[in-house]
Amino acid sequence: MLGPALALVHTGQAPTRSALTSALDVTRATAGAISAELEALGLITVDSSPAGGGRGRPSHRLAVDPSGPVVIAAQIHADGLSIALAGLGGRLEEPVHLPLPDATDPVRLLSAVARAGADLARASGRRCLGAALALPNPVTEPDGAALAALHFAWPSGTPVADLFAEQLRKADLGPRARMPLPSTVANDANLAALAEHRHGAGRGSRHLLLVTSGHRGVGGALVIDGRLHTGSAGLAMEVGHLTVDPQGRPCACGNRGCLNSETDPEALFAAADRTPDPRRPLLEQARELARAAAADPRARAAVDHVVDRLGLGLAGLVNILNPDRIVLSGLHRDLLAAAPERLAAVVADRCLLGRSGRMPIVAAEVTHAGLVGAAELAWEPLLHDPQAVAAGTVAGTRGERQK
Ligand SMILES: [Zn+2]
Repeated sequence: MLGPALALVHTGQAPTRSALTSALDVTRATAGAISAELEALGLITVDSSPAGGGRGRPSHRLAVDPSGPVVIAAQIHADGLSIALAGLGGRLEEPVHLPLPDATDPVRLLSAVARAGADLARASGRRCLGAALALPNPVTEPDGAALAALHFAWPSGTPVADLFAEQLRKADLGPRARMPLPSTVANDANLAALAEHRHGAGRGSRHLLLVTSGHRGVGGALVIDGRLHTGSAGLAMEVGHLTVDPQGRPCACGNRGCLNSETDPEALFAAADRTPDPRRPLLEQARELARAAAADPRARAAVDHVVDRLGLGLAGLVNILNPDRIVLSGLHRDLLAAAPERLAAVVADRCLLGRSGRMPIVAAEVTHAGLVGAAELAWEPLLHDPQAVAAGTVAGTRGERQK
């Protein structure tokens, strides 16, 4: 019961003890004992002071403990490295952004990530319980190897999970970190979907489809009943190679007209017959171009062209997966904002569920979703067994204090 209770407070679904009581379907006394135990573990706070202006008997307010444990969340993307600490409750601290080291050697990159994360953990003085890293390429399960890491020219099958764990072992994480620090790596679109499901536009959805385009290519992810669907080897939902125009632009896979090459930032620039400034992040410029559709006819025509192809891709996915909600992020979020009716019409035309009008297509809400999702992954052992994970470190911390 402790794990589900912590998850409810963590995702904002149990802001009071009475909400916890009904969500867990237990007695008031049991909910009281559970919240007291989570408080004793230093994970949540229980506030029993009366709320101002409320009528009737106030319920104890539950919140994540602001001085509770943290995890290290990191993301490698085409424009650099981002690293942040996160507390429970999806509370991400201000990320540190670093340029990509010149060498695209994975060890150099991962050691830069581990050192930056360790610096943050040490400086915070808070218990650090884990680390997770988001990558812009497919990641195999359970071994955590990177496939087709096109941005960095890494050899396919680079054992990123092992290399990241090794760099974290070498880093100075300070006296309050769990040792060795559990760590994991995953694909960034999968993590963004997890972030949206727990803390954003996907809340309450049971079959959530997320489609996104960042720098180059398109990512997809599916969250079913709160868990990522990653397939037999971690490679499910590689939606980028869905064909949406057989005569379309060439894709890195060797084919033409994949969702990847028809609906990413480069595709939008090509449709507008414009060239992006190589000195500025491509996604940022593509977003500006999508927004310009309101006033600029050439940008409007380019947006409509790309939205039609995105709609074909989404319709194909809806027919196969039958989601109850689609969240669009990255450039696709801006395309939705620029042409919501057009996108909905293309999807509706091509699938039964779309025609029923019961499937919302909504914009992503979480800022730094890759990092927030990485934190979710790093929290998983604690949410599974708060007692074992949190109590383990409390004991270790006491040992340090006796010095
Ligand atoms: Zn392709």
